[in-house]
Amino acid sequence: MNRKTDVRRAAPIEIEPDEFRRLGHQLVDTIAEFMGTLSERAVMPSQTPNQIRSALGIQNPLPEHGTDAGALLDEAARLLFDYSTFNGHPRFLAYITSSAAPLGALGDLLAASVNPNVGGGPLAPMATEIEAQTIRWIAELLGYPTDCGGLLVSGGNMANFTAFLAARRAKAPWDVRTTGMNGPHLCVYTSAETHTWIQKAADLFGLGTDSIRWLPTDADLRMDLSALRQAIADDRAHGRVPMMVVGTAGSTPTGAIDPLPEIAAICRENDLWFHVDGAYGAPAVILPDAPADLKGLSLADSVAIDPHKWLYTPLEAGCVLVRDAKALVDAFSYHPVYYHLDGTGSDLNHINYYEYGPQNSRGFRALKVWLTLRQVGRAGYAQMIADDIQLAEALYRLADTHPELEAVTLGLSVTTFRFVPADLTPGSEKVESYLNDLNNALLTRLGAGGEVSLSNAVVAGKYLLRSCVVNFRTSLADMQALPEIITREGRALDAEIRPDDL
Ligand SMILES: *Cc1c(COP(=O)(O)O)cnc(C)c1O
Repeated sequence: MNRKTDVRRAAPIEIEPDEFRRLGHQLVDTIAEFMGTLSERAVMPSQTPNQIRSALGIQNPLPEHGTDAGALLDEAARLLFDYSTFNGHPRFLAYITSSAAPLGALGDLLAASVNPNVGGGPLAPMATEIEAQTIRWIAELLGYPTDCGGLLVSGGNMANFTAFLAARRAKAPWDVRTTGMNGPHLCVYTSAETHTWIQKAADLFGLGTDSIRWLPTDADLRMDLSALRQAIADDRAHGRVPMMVVGTAGSTPTGAIDPLPEIAAICRENDLWFHVDGAYGAPAVILPDAPADLKGLSLADSVAIDPHKWLYTPLEAGCVLVRDAKALVDAFSYHPVYYHLDGTGSDLNHINYYEYGPQNSRGFRALKVWLTLRQVGRAGYAQMIADDIQLAEALYRLADTHPELEAVTLGLSVTTFRFVPADLTPGSEKVESYLNDLNNALLTRLGAGGEVSLSNAVVAGKYLLRSCVVNFRTSLADMQALPEIITREGRALDAEIRPDDL
């Protein structure tokens, strides 16, 4: 026997408690300093990917021998603080990535320290129940039945995929889990504004992207219901099998909400699975003045919601809720002989989350969500979400009243607008085409400037700047600063790139 392992091993990965305490305190001090100075930093780094690679030393070989842990943590913190896009910055308004709850960072440290494997109940007795409670609380928050099934996954894509697979299992008129995709053509219905996850899902799960019926939208970018009815009837008439309708509760480009109650009724009439993608917008249903369309998510067979978006938890945290908990087990469960997870007594009724979704070993994502839900409470979320929406409205008004900005859409906390030089009249093909190029280049220029991070949307052929506030650090002053920054940079860019013949 190797003597080194007789009593206590000298493993190179071990850190003794005293040393862990010292390193941990130092790291927490560094992080607190970072959080306290976020707003003074550039929102995005100005360096190119190649410059960032060389700062890292991307070509360095794998070390043969180890390095002092404290030095490594210092270096990692410096690299990340110097070369990151900070979605926790008050002027980060791009995509749908929230400022993260600081408590979530501490929760992740605790979760990784206990390191429960939340795939099997006996491997994670308390963590499993905390996840179950978190799922129930999220359902309660959304006004969804609290006896639903559900689990936490990495994000909106995985939450939507999980629901998609439950729908496929439930609605395919043959045993799709055993014999695969060899029956009649299954079809899914969704609006043209739906997030790109639907393409990955149709592709990955064997339907193929041709099975997606991209329905047109109305003037408010909401699903056209007569087109939905027509498409379902057409597919039936051709021997295809309509499977599910996906309604979006807060579309990614503009925050549009599909007419969910009407879609629910159409699904009921046609025996289709009704899925709501609320990855972004679902939490807004807690507001006292939430639109009736949004409240329709309570009628869905399944809902996807991203705690790492509008519940402000750190990445990664997505969540799927399924009205009939059994539909998840039906879609995902197997019982290999080498798992002893079910217990043998009647009081050993563990939940084994590996049976509810695609993952096997699972981390303790729920802790940061559970902690944040309790820290903030329903009222705290209602206040933060209402504030985010108010700021989006304020930005819309600022753009609408500014002579060089054109406000275009406002939905939930998403505002879209564009820069239009004072001497140009939009409308003609030539001017529109230049405005698209100009606003596209302006978006890049704003990012490089580090003052604000926006993203884009394309609505009716117009390339637009897009601000999405899922950021509890953003203030009215940040919104008020935007028109000056955008028009200053817009004018400078216009002077550089405008073609002579315009
Ligand atoms: C963000 C988003 C997704 C994808 O979620 P991820 O967490 O990025 O995987 C899906 N649908 C909608 C409506 C979204 O806004």
